[in-house]
Amino acid sequence: MKVTAIPTFRDNYVWAIHNDQSAILVDPGEAAPILTWLEARQLHPVALLITHHHADHVGGIREITAHHEVPVYGPASETIPGGTHPLRGGETVQIRELGLAFQALATPGHTLGHLCYFGHGALFCGDTLFSCGCGRLFEGTPKQMHASLTRIKALPSDTLLYCAHEYTLDNLDFALMVEPGNSALHKRLAQVQELRKQGKPTLPVSLGTEIATNPFLRFDEPSIAVAATQHAGYPIQPGLATFATVRAWKDGH
Ligand code: ZN
Ligand code: FE
Repeated sequence: MKVTAIPTFRDNYVWAIHNDQSAILVDPGEAAPILTWLEARQLHPVALLITHHHADHVGGIREITAHHEVPVYGPASETIPGGTHPLRGGETVQIRELGLAFQALATPGHTLGHLCYFGHGALFCGDTLFSCGCGRLFEGTPKQMHASLTRIKALPSDTLLYCAHEYTLDNLDFALMVEPGNSALHKRLAQVQELRKQGKPTLPVSLGTEIATNPFLRFDEPSIAVAATQHAGYPIQPGLATFATVRAWKDGH
């Protein structure tokens, strides 16, 4: 399975899953760079996979579907302009043209209907999970996001995460403040600085790396609970309380 990042806006990635004929596009927030990319390679879009309703993820759908007849999968409980195949999570999306299948996972938190798409060792996780960060809780509760991230954590650790934003360097800043003694985090920082210097995406990243470095997946670690406790000024237990504290901490950072 070939996956290519198409940069859009300031820091979004539209992920294209493709061969030399067909492409699936994840979260096309604007049409022009996508149409240009497809045309340059003479590729035909065969599906649009949408994770959630925010403009930087859905803004290009109408113009793409005006040029190409293509099914648009997305959350049933959100307004997806041009959406044709509403999903609630649990469904399998079959893409015959590429011989691929992706499972829709309900991951509420950033938005209530947010979906991730999992298949072939890859997770297209939209704004639920970023490298060393996670989405802001615009609609959901800490409890919902904690459950969503717990679900992601249970996937095979070699799963490659294709997040929708290049936020890694900024996120590392905060992660290192929470956990300055985490050697895996320092290693990831060096790697990310090098990639950015070369103008390359820091994604995808393996779930295993994120479990070792991402404070929003490390809520069960005593080191993170200690940092949350110091920040709050009263005892915070590992788990949901630690997740909620660290999320609020980053919001105010
Ligand atoms: Zn969003
Ligand atoms: Fe976004």
